[in-house]
Amino acid sequence: MILSNPNQKKIEDLGPQDIIIVGAGTIGLYLAHVINKKNPHIEITIVESGSEEPTQKFNSYLSESKGKKHSGTLNGRASGVGGTSHLWGGQLAEFERLDFEGDSSGWPLDYEEMLSYYNKVYAQLGMRGIQSNETYDKAYGKLTDVNKKIVRTYTRWLKEPNFYNFFKDDIRNNKKIKIIINTTVNDIKFNGNKAISINCITNNLVDISLRANRFIFASGTMGINQFFLSTQITSNVPWKKNENVGKYFQDHLGGVIGTLNIKNEKLFRKYFENSWVKGIKVQPKLKFTSKNRSAQETGAVAFFTYKSKYENSIIRIKQSLKNIGKNFKVKNIILLIRDLSLIRKDLILMIYKFLFKKRVHAIFNLKNSVEVNIHSEQIPIENSAIKIANNNILDNGLFKIQTCWSCNGNEAISIKKISKEVDSFLRINGIGEVIFNDGYLEKSNTALINDFHDTNHQCGGLIISENQENGVVDKNCKVWGASNVWVAGSSVFPSSSYANSTLTALALAERLAEHCFE
Ligand SMILES: Cc1cc2nc3c(=O)[nH]c(=O)nc-3n(C[C@H](O)[C@H](O)[C@H](O)COP(=O)(O)OP(=O)(O)OC[C@H]3O[C@@H](n4cnc5c(N)ncnc54)[C@H](O)[C@@H]3O)c2cc1C
Repeated sequence: MILSNPNQKKIEDLGPQDIIIVGAGTIGLYLAHVINKKNPHIEITIVESGSEEPTQKFNSYLSESKGKKHSGTLNGRASGVGGTSHLWGGQLAEFERLDFEGDSSGWPLDYEEMLSYYNKVYAQLGMRGIQSNETYDKAYGKLTDVNKKIVRTYTRWLKEPNFYNFFKDDIRNNKKIKIIINTTVNDIKFNGNKAISINCITNNLVDISLRANRFIFASGTMGINQFFLSTQITSNVPWKKNENVGKYFQDHLGGVIGTLNIKNEKLFRKYFENSWVKGIKVQPKLKFTSKNRSAQETGAVAFFTYKSKYENSIIRIKQSLKNIGKNFKVKNIILLIRDLSLIRKDLILMIYKFLFKKRVHAIFNLKNSVEVNIHSEQIPIENSAIKIANNNILDNGLFKIQTCWSCNGNEAISIKKISKEVDSFLRINGIGEVIFNDGYLEKSNTALINDFHDTNHQCGGLIISENQENGVVDKNCKVWGASNVWVAGSSVFPSSSYANSTLTALALAERLAEHCFE
């Protein structure tokens, strides 16, 4: 149920809430759904600073990038109901055992436990057909692994990545879940270590205060850091003197390292085109074997993206299909017919493969158009941090923040290693060879990392720790020093694997939904 123009009277009429969730983005909507399912009688209110139509337009008002350029600060998040799930593709990837249990992982949670929460998330999201990597290997066919350095891994794609659509029923009809929109949470009041209320300001500058028994911050990595850093200055909060707030900010490092010179197109398509297995779309990628990974400081993954002279047509077709029924304009239909006719040969293959092979036909021209991408984990370092940008308080009662992103540089060692090993793996299997970008393998670590960019996976700033001195939240994501305040999202990651971050953030939210009622 959406409440759009709240005032103090309307809020008081709601009565005291059992839980307030800050942020109606990907994690906030998921949490509300799970908590409501487990406890259908309790009153949940979500406070969301954006509207029903998420937008990126507030990002430059709220934040800036300083240090290594961090594009996601301005472009990689959306504010509104559904949050950044309006922008993402919905690719889910699991962290691996070493990410949780390796010497420098920082995670006080073990892999087996997290695996059980991954499975709960798949079930909540209706992905009952999920299979193990070994099963996907069998479905794709055997590949030679003489060097035992590289294995395949598979990301799984959500059918409906937009969480506004996925949780539409909760948003529209569930009377136990109220979403107050156009309202920013800017303060929290405590009685001892117990939070009793939050202060908010609406877009038309009305101040309101909301009371509840439990408070969960699910306002995205940038949003949560902004709130915790701002309230360190303005309020008497338990984290006032915690110097870890904002520190160990991480993103994944991404870059195109060259192109694939395909030697056997049939083999390449067999092993690397996306496919549907038991109703789930999967994407094959290449990573280190566990033994090889344990000798590296960071994890990394390699995958392919495709360029074609029909790229713009393909983007337009995808958009038209997504918006089918919504945007019925003759001009758009003519454009769609023209685009479809341009790619007609591939279109026939696409339909054939979809119907008879459950495959996604990849469209590329053979020469230099299959790009080899690497995504790498970042080594968490203290001076990669989110900070307050200046002394001027914004109209919404928070301070502008700046992302001072910085990298250790040693990530380049694993990046170069996986690059060479993937090249060798593809050659041995007769699939092709990587034509590296000019001078790529000779680059210094610093130069190589300078060329790599962020990948919209903002993590850290409020990291989980085993004790209060080393982080901001405990292993149940409860804020150190507070008895009823939790943080949900990838801002708690002490380290962030190479894998896309959201599945692990959802798994932690699932776990939090159990622990916050203990
Ligand atoms: C282009 C793109 C592609 C991506 N692809 C993938 C992918 O394939 N796989 C993957 O795992 N991840 C991907 N990601 C990352 C993923 O989308 C995000 O990690 C995830 O959506 C974050 O969810 P969240 O709920 O933490 O934050 P958001 O979804 O950003 O939600 C936070 C919400 O909190 C609100 N808010 C903030 N501050 C306040 C406040 N003070 N008061 C009230 N409300 C507030 C915001 O308005 C926002 O609506 C991608 C991101 C982008 C941009």
